[in-house]
Amino acid sequence: MKLCIIFPPLPFGWTPVAPPILEYLAALTRQADPSIEIQLISGSATPEAYKSVECDLAAISILTPTAVSGYNIADSLRARGIKVVFGGMHASAMPEEAKTHGDAVVIGEAESCWPQVLKDFRAGTLQSFYRGEQLELTNMPTPLYGMLKNNHQFRIVNTSRGCPFNCTFCSVKPFFGAKIRFRPIEDVVRDVAAIPEKMYEIGDENIWWSSETKRAIELFTALKGSPKKYMAFGSLGPVLAPEGSRMLNAARESGLLSVWVGWDAISEHSLKAYKANGKIGVDRERAVRTLKDHGIDVSLFYMLGSREDTFDDFKRAIEVADRLGVSMHPSLVVPYPGTVLSREYEPYIYKDLGWEYYNGSYALFDHPDPMMTPELREEHFYISLLEQLSLPRVLRHMMKVPMAGFPYAHILSLMSQLPVRKGVKIAFEQWKANRESVRAKRQK
Ligand code: SF4
Repeated sequence: MKLCIIFPPLPFGWTPVAPPILEYLAALTRQADPSIEIQLISGSATPEAYKSVECDLAAISILTPTAVSGYNIADSLRARGIKVVFGGMHASAMPEEAKTHGDAVVIGEAESCWPQVLKDFRAGTLQSFYRGEQLELTNMPTPLYGMLKNNHQFRIVNTSRGCPFNCTFCSVKPFFGAKIRFRPIEDVVRDVAAIPEKMYEIGDENIWWSSETKRAIELFTALKGSPKKYMAFGSLGPVLAPEGSRMLNAARESGLLSVWVGWDAISEHSLKAYKANGKIGVDRERAVRTLKDHGIDVSLFYMLGSREDTFDDFKRAIEVADRLGVSMHPSLVVPYPGTVLSREYEPYIYKDLGWEYYNGSYALFDHPDPMMTPELREEHFYISLLEQLSLPRVLRHMMKVPMAGFPYAHILSLMSQLPVRKGVKIAFEQWKANRESVRAKRQK
């Protein structure tokens, strides 16, 4: 039996990060049935590869912006007699929809049901839906790092799942649950050692939690001997906690170069509307300076164009980036299916814009201010993004990357901005060329 695991192309093409599900699902498959032959396809690297694939079963993992291309791939494989199983966050949020393009859908985390899917497929008794449980993370295999070629430069390690907060825009809690489940630290160290490259990424939604700084310090201490460097997502609250300084020193010594922070909204007003309680009231600018003072670079991710945002927020974001000397990466707000925000915005969503528009560069819902038309929001988004990525700003940010991370953190800073800048310029031109057709869809 041959299984092909496919991650459809991301909206903006190839990325240096290997899609983690590919090598991880390969490892789960190997654990369940070592006799299965496995092929991996990263659609961003080889968008046409699925057309010539020969296999018995295809597993396609979809996110909302990749759902439509995932469905197209599935339709073409099924026309050739290949069975298709869907999984991933979008399939879990929209299982009935995914089922119309596949033979089976895994809802939620795969570990508890993937062996059964494979067994049922072999027996010819594939079920329509499999519901994964949220197991403790004590028996996760090491992903088959290196199996995916395609010149990806970073691989992902996960150390935990779940989040207790309730940010309305976020899919983490609906998918992974409210309880933070940690992997045994020795398993994380084992996985890091197995990564072939010198740099990696910790893919958790948060590498340090206010209630779990002791665990974070233990993890960093265990990673300290590794020659590899990494970046991770982290929140700002724990940085200012009494033990924050000790934690940050341990993090830097463990190889942490750069932390990506969900800034989420420029104004406190919008943070409150998102119910982002872990961020409200935190002195966020002081936390960013504290991180940099400890030799860790910072990149901020934020959203623009919510129903509470104004055009002033677009401008203020640039001021924040310049004041803090960090790179900032905006997207337009996306009400992902399954989130609280998608239910709150339901009456205002433009229903004729399909999932392929849910990529962070389209205005997907009506705004209460008639001056904030969807097209103006999109245009301001591109202008704001290109300002953030202007060459002088990129170079200025690089000069402000802490020397403790030299040269890796400086290279990373450039790698995370210059290719994006090129892609954004192309996307902006495409947006201008297509705006008539998008306008027509909105007016339906
Ligand atoms: S945005 Fe971060 S803190 Fe908020 S719910 Fe998602 S993972 Fe949790």
